[in-house]
Amino acid sequence: MDFLIATHNMKKRAELERILSPLGVHVRTAEEAGVPLTDVEETGTTFEENAFLKADAGCRESGMACIADDSGLAVDALGGAPGVYSARYAGVHGDDQANNSKLLENLKDVPDEKRTARFVSVVCCVFPDGKTIYARGECEGLIGHAPRGDGGFGYDPLFLLPDGRCFGEMDAAEKDAVSHRGNALRLFKQKLQEIL
Ligand code: IMP
Repeated sequence: MDFLIATHNMKKRAELERILSPLGVHVRTAEEAGVPLTDVEETGTTFEENAFLKADAGCRESGMACIADDSGLAVDALGGAPGVYSARYAGVHGDDQANNSKLLENLKDVPDEKRTARFVSVVCCVFPDGKTIYARGECEGLIGHAPRGDGGFGYDPLFLLPDGRCFGEMDAAEKDAVSHRGNALRLFKQKLQEIL
């Protein structure tokens, strides 16, 4: 069965394909499926709402079951910010360096024990008959005081697991095994298996 994925990110595509192909599920980007998708404005205030907005629009425009995910970082000392605004925390969408600098600046007086945070990922799939499934994954950790490593993307160089490992210094497989996205995708796979 072919599913559309509402992302242009080839890393996410590979990750989805790796996890879902044992179920006979193959994912296609809009380009691969030959369906021009309109870019959806992420106007939701929760990860669930934004994931649904993208999956629902993709399904309606293509007529295919469509999978979308939305993710971000929630820092306790900042009341859950940057949250759904993670990609554009410092103003420019996807400027990881500026986002990380802003996060460090906003936490500069916050002591270690109060630097708790979690990554969140919500995967949503909308089917042409309107059926919708959600899977949420989280990963608890702490925000460091300076960037570490050059792996991953986004806030990875600042995100420390409770055992002290930093996402920025872990390889993809190590990160997948514990990450919010890995957890969400494993749950998504289970839910999909139940309905297919
Ligand atoms: P999106 O859901 O791909 O749009 O991701 C939103 C933003 O959250 C990204 O631009 C990153 O800033 C942040 N983010 C989400 N997942 C991760 C991750 O695994 N590592 C680091 N940053 C992440």
